[in-house]
Amino acid sequence: MNADLERIVALQKLVSASHDAERRLAEEPERQQELETRLETARQRVAEAKERLAQNQNARRAVEKDVAVHQGRLSKFREQAMAVKTNQEYHAVQKEIGFAQGEIKTIEDKILELMVDADDLSATVKRAESELASEQKAVDADRRAMTAELAAMKTSLERIAAERADVVRGLSPQALAIFELVLRRRNGVAVAQARDGICTVCHVRLRPQVFNTVLRNDQIIQCDSCQRILYYVPAAAPATSDTVPQSAQ
Ligand SMILES: [Zn+2]
Repeated sequence: MNADLERIVALQKLVSASHDAERRLAEEPERQQELETRLETARQRVAEAKERLAQNQNARRAVEKDVAVHQGRLSKFREQAMAVKTNQEYHAVQKEIGFAQGEIKTIEDKILELMVDADDLSATVKRAESELASEQKAVDADRRAMTAELAAMKTSLERIAAERADVVRGLSPQALAIFELVLRRRNGVAVAQARDGICTVCHVRLRPQVFNTVLRNDQIIQCDSCQRILYYVPAAAPATSDTVPQSAQ
């Protein structure tokens, strides 16, 4: 392969690798935010469950006060019942007693209902707390993995930058100028593999004469359509591991 062409293909790999790493680095604040949101959602569930339990306990204290009030009235009516003089008074007091007893029964049913609810609500609080604890563990693990990944990425970016400077030093100024121009204009992908007579990035069919020249890999040839620098990987070579990302067009 032509020395410049070989360096250009190598340079493109380095450029693409550093773009990928930079993109990943740029996503970091968003990924951190996602982790924080996961924790916040779990904390919110605990807070809501506790709030519902507290409301239940407040309601129970309130109705227990009501019971005390009605029991007070009930004992007062019972005292009055001892002291009544007429049948009419007796019936009136009995009516009040019946009413107070009815109220107490209703409130006691309500207390029972609140107690049953409280069991469910306490279980919900416990469940939410244990979910928060496991979410915290998972998020801590993700954060550690992310920190390690970032450190590795920074190291690899430094290595890529050094290799890139090395390759650029060996490249002829003309070849570098073409590479940089196409790189800017073509979304970070300045080279394209030619295969079966086609530019594999823009998918336009090359003129047979152009393709035949590209097959020799002995000069800088640009695609007529996308201007990318064309190169050819012989079929025997492991094409998958030796190609440049073709996502950008
Ligand atoms: Zn092309």
